[in-house]
Amino acid sequence: MHHVLDMRAALLRWYDEQGRSLPWRVRPEDRARGVIPDPYAVWLSEVMSQQTTLAHAAPYWGKFLAEFPTATDLANAEREIVLSMWAGLGYYARARNLHKCAGVVRDEYRGVFPTDQKTLLTLPGIGPYTAATIAAICADEATNIVDGNVERVISRIFAYQDALPKGRKALRELAGTLVRADRPGDYGQALMDLGAGICAPKNPDCDICPWAEWCKAHAQGQETLYPKKEKKKTIPVRHGYAYVLRCGDYFLVEARPDQGLLGGMLGIPTSNWGEKPASHNAAPQTKDGHRNWQRAGEIKHVFTHFELRLDVFTAETSDRLEGEWTRESAGLPTVFKKVVKLAQKKTGPSGPAKS
Ligand code: SF4
Repeated sequence: MHHVLDMRAALLRWYDEQGRSLPWRVRPEDRARGVIPDPYAVWLSEVMSQQTTLAHAAPYWGKFLAEFPTATDLANAEREIVLSMWAGLGYYARARNLHKCAGVVRDEYRGVFPTDQKTLLTLPGIGPYTAATIAAICADEATNIVDGNVERVISRIFAYQDALPKGRKALRELAGTLVRADRPGDYGQALMDLGAGICAPKNPDCDICPWAEWCKAHAQGQETLYPKKEKKKTIPVRHGYAYVLRCGDYFLVEARPDQGLLGGMLGIPTSNWGEKPASHNAAPQTKDGHRNWQRAGEIKHVFTHFELRLDVFTAETSDRLEGEWTRESAGLPTVFKKVVKLAQKKTGPSGPAKS
């Protein structure tokens, strides 16, 4: 398997010269200056950048580290504050787990973030990918780091025939055959960079790829055939109503139940979401009995397992006596930002549009 060593050497050379600089990344030259990766900061960056672009995640990472420099600081913060700072990053179960995980680190590890894969895997919200990444970067553990980008690279290198997701486990094992103890953190990050950049889904730039000479898909001229994928099932559509009750610039919000989607987050009151449009029973009542709901239109939002279509209604009330009111939609999940925006478009930011 001497070509494995050649492949690793070629990739690391490329990484040394051309790997990305990221706000949270400790590059080889930084290490040479004595910078030591902070597992807490690496963990934050990994959890935040899943399912979104690095450019989108970066400001959140900076904000969290400034506000909560250590896992204990994060654990000591009110969960509502953490959730509202997370708003916009999506997948809110992750924010809840983030806070929970910080609590475990504070209580069971005296605030010292673990760096070995086995322990990391026991922490809330930390899966195989994140555990492997933190252990490799922070403890030089020779772990097998595989994210979606790495899957693409590996499937092309080996011209891997089985379709994903079924073939995923074996593909990951194949990735594991390239793992060695030499600079595991840099190797993993290099591989992720290769997948995020050169080995792009549609137009891989094989001419400048450090692995081109070992790549079977490239030899076949069939790069984009891989990874093979099973046919996607179309995701179901769910319907519901959303109610933006306004009082001047303010609108009514409510905390969503802990269980279920967006649990614990602040949201706009809605009906149930179902396959068929729901009833209007959930429309907020007000003391002055004003329920002159006007339809503002429909918003669509795609969650992992379904698409939500909310029919947005809005009404004006003269009192703010009951419930929680806000003028800011910044702390709301994206789906509710869309709802508020639509209602405001219908009425203008403060009150019904004059006709
Ligand atoms: S040669 Fe092309 S397809 Fe193969 S790993 Fe490199 S960029 Fe990807």
